[in-house]
This record gives sequence, structure tokens and C-alpha cells, in this order.
Amino acid sequence: IDPNATVSSLLRRHATERPDDEALRFGDVRRTWSELDERVRRLATALRAEGIGPGDRVAVLDLNHPSCLELSLACAWIGAANAVVNFRLAPPEILYVINDARARLLLVGPEFAGAAAQLREKLDTVERILPVGGEQDEYEAFLSAHQPDESPHPAARDDCFVQLYTSGTTGFPKGAMLTHGAMLAHAAHVATDFELAPTDVVQVAMPLFHVGGTSYAFLALGQGARIVMARMPDPAALLDMIGAEGITHTFWVPALMGAMTQVPGAAEKDYSSLRAISYGASPMPLPVLRASLELFGPRLHQVYGMTEACGVVTSLGPEDHADPAVAHRLVSAGKPITGVTIEVRDPATGEELGVDEPGEIWVRTDQLMSGYWQKPEATAAAVTPDGWLRSGDGGHIDADGYVYVTDRIKDMIVSGGENVYPAEIERVLAEHPSVADVAVIGVPDERWGEVPKACVVAAPGATIDPEALLARAREHLAGFKCPRTVDVLEELPRNPTGKILKKELRAPHWEGRERRTV
Ligand code: ATP
Repeated sequence: IDPNATVSSLLRRHATERPDDEALRFGDVRRTWSELDERVRRLATALRAEGIGPGDRVAVLDLNHPSCLELSLACAWIGAANAVVNFRLAPPEILYVINDARARLLLVGPEFAGAAAQLREKLDTVERILPVGGEQDEYEAFLSAHQPDESPHPAARDDCFVQLYTSGTTGFPKGAMLTHGAMLAHAAHVATDFELAPTDVVQVAMPLFHVGGTSYAFLALGQGARIVMARMPDPAALLDMIGAEGITHTFWVPALMGAMTQVPGAAEKDYSSLRAISYGASPMPLPVLRASLELFGPRLHQVYGMTEACGVVTSLGPEDHADPAVAHRLVSAGKPITGVTIEVRDPATGEELGVDEPGEIWVRTDQLMSGYWQKPEATAAAVTPDGWLRSGDGGHIDADGYVYVTDRIKDMIVSGGENVYPAEIERVLAEHPSVADVAVIGVPDERWGEVPKACVVAAPGATIDPEALLARAREHLAGFKCPRTVDVLEELPRNPTGKILKKELRAPHWEGRERRTV
């Protein structure tokens, strides 16, 4: 990718150089590069006619649909940005995001028409709600009423054109402003490491509000590869799509892969076209990884990343998945990808730590967001003046340079002045045969500030004996790391990508008190 390219200049280039090659498939929809380019420029004219211009925000509340991608591309053309809303949020959270973005136009899919109508009066800045898809579709008419625009906003590489909200496991959602330069740097780095060529076919399986959806679409656009978009991450349908569409690259989350390994007949399907399955966004349970390896063979790349870096920052390649001599690495997130530097720093002092020392993962790369939308303090807390992103993840780097992601730093327990990383305790408890799932949280304690508590879910048919678990902890862990109490739960609260919501587990214990974090 030309280092001076913008998203708009790339789209124009594909439309000029390969006008009749297919850019996008979605259900029965087929679009060539020239068709996509023309639609995007019509949409750009339509947005301008609404008075939307540089710096403005628009938003989408829909399952995956090509219109979301077209809107992002049209925003790129006119200097605006598309805030893609997480449709799985509760109505008050959806309202928060749309109002936070100060969106002037809102695209709404048929499944969300009722929710949008209910929220309508409370939307501070939305001037127009445009139904897209379904029987009430107004999007097509909106777009085709206008001529294709010929004069793009003179976009700088630092201009934001997509705004994705971090899923908010650590507080209110924040809009990460992703720029032309950052998104295309990510596309170039990933394409290099995962060998993506213009003849390849990228499955966009995850929702576009998630960086694993949007960034994979732009990964394809970067190279001019074909996008095949799924409306919903349905496990069986995504597997069938591989053979039917000749998918070469995809990105899935562990929870989805767990479901895929249970799809009847999954082992008989055709995966021969697939060259790279990336998986990540939350920790991969080893049993799911083993089942996935059996099903798909050695084409798995574990990726670790975050919205703030447009997606992937490290990857663990197929060779590390296949070699039993390095089986211990299966729990690592691999090494930094091209264009990314990673260090582990002391979260309190910012000092770089040594091999295997636990601390906070810091990331430096040209894939970084320009900041959080209208949150300068949060931006300053996340990005240092010399351009390091503090990931908020705890972890360490081993002697071979492999990165291990263990905890959220905010979940780290400070007990009597000692840093306690819950992952270490969770690993010990998870090995007990009665335990199916476990999360360790910090709860208030008069003497130590906070102490670890284990929240466990029993394995099918097993009963949890708290005393036995505590005894096991005492056997394997230093005294200050041992949980003081055990809660037995039916299940652990998780967000849609499978991350445990420790904030929710902690809440009842901290009512009326403030929990201090690094
Ligand atoms: P918030 O920052 O508000 O807590 P979030 O964590 O959901 O929201 P995302 O950008 O969606 O923000 O997710 C990025 C985070 O996901 C990473 O910081 C890390 O905690 C986790 N993550 C991503 N990939 C992996 C992986 N391969 N293994 C373990 N955790 C991962």
C-alpha cells in the first residue's frame, strides 16, 4: 500500500485499475470495484446535501450490511466519520453512544426499527433516521437520488473516518478515532504477515462495530481482495461459506469457534481454500483450541489486539500451533506483527521490565488511533506523549520474545502493597477437576486493602468443595495470593466476545466504596 494513500484514493485506484473485479459479496448482492466506488461517491453527495461535512459524525445501528461499509467509505470521501454502534448494547447504552458521537444521521436495520423509534426523542443530534434493508428501505433511494461526487475532501492520513467504541469492560464506551493512515498501516502489516493478495477472499464474519469486523473489511480493501460479508456470525453458515465462496482469510472469536467445533458435520465440510484463520479478542480456552486445530489443521493464527490499534498487534502463527515441542506457547499471543513494537512496563512507574516479569503491555505502532473522541483526559491516560499505547492488559514477554496476555491491569489486585495477578490464581484453580470456569476478583478488606476472592462454576456433575479449592491454592501459591473466599455461581457474566465482566462480579462487594486502580 502506497504510504501516501488514503482510503478514498485506494478505492479509486481499484475502481480504475480493476473496475470489473468483484469487491464485495453479501447474500445475493455482488458489487464490482467500479460499482462500489460509484455508490460510495453517490452517498458522499447525498451526505453533503444533508449538510454533513468534515469532522461530522454519522452512525449505524444494524447487523452487518454493505451500507455500513459504504457509509464509512463515503465518510472518508467527505472528511466525516462513521460511528458504528454495538447493536448488542442495551437501549440506554445505545443512546449513550449515538449521543456521545453527536451523530447527525443514523442508519437503522429492520431489526432495530422499534428500538430506534423508542429512542428517537432522546437522540440529541440525529436529524435524520434512514431505514436500511427490509421493507422500509430508504437507503437505496437516498443514494441513487444523487450523482457521484468528483471532489474528495482533501483527506489527510490523520483524519478519522471510522469511530469504533471500545466495548466498555472497563467503564463507559469510548470512541476510538481510527484514521486513514492507521487503518491502512494495519491493513499493510497484516497483509504482509498473513500473505494476503488481491486474488484472495476475506470473510467478514464478526460485527462491523467490532474492530475484528471493520478492520478485516479494510484489510481486504487495502489489497483489493474480495470481501464476503456475513449478516450474523452464525457458526454453521460461516463454515458453509468457506467452501461456497472460496474464502482464504477470516477472523473469528474463541466463543464462535467453540460453537463451530460443535456444528454437526463440521469435519466433513470443505475448508481447502482457507489459508489463514485468525482468532482472538479474548483468551482462547485450550480445549477449544485443540478441537479447532483438529478441525481446521495448521492454519490458525492467534491474534492479540485492541480497537485503539485498529486490530492486530501480535500473532502466533501456524508453526507455533503445530509443533508439540513448543506446546507451552499455545497460551501465548505470539510475537509483534510487522510495524509493531511491544514492551512490558511497570504500570505505576512506566519502567521497562525484564524477561518473564509481569507488568503492563505497551504498544508502539503507526496503527494507533488519533485518540478517543472528545475525551482528551482518557486519551492522555492511554497514549503517552512519545506515542506508546498503554494497553491496560497485564502480561509478560518470554526469553524468545513471545507475548503472554494475562489480566486486565484494572483487575489486578493490590493486597497489602503486593501486586496480585488474578490469572495466576485462576490457572491454579482451573486445574481442579470440579471447576468448569473461574474468575478471581479483588474484594475489600480492612487490613490488606483488598484480597482475592474466587468465583467458580462447577463442572457438569461435579460439586464444588470450597475448602478443597482453598487448600489447592495454599499448596501452589504464596499466602497473599490465596483467595480468602469462594463463591459458587451458575455461570460467569461475559460480554459478547467472551470476556468475563469482572466489574459486574466486583460490584456487589464494593457498593459505596471506591476501588483504587493503578
Ligand atoms: P475496554 O478497553 O473498555 O475494556 P475491550 O477490552 O473490550 O474494552 P477491545 O478493543 O474490544 O476493548 O478489546 C481489546 C482487549 O481484548 C485487549 O486489550 C485484551 O484485553 C483482549 N484481547 C484481545 N486479544 C486477545 C487475545 N488474543 N488473548 C487475550 N485477550 C485478548
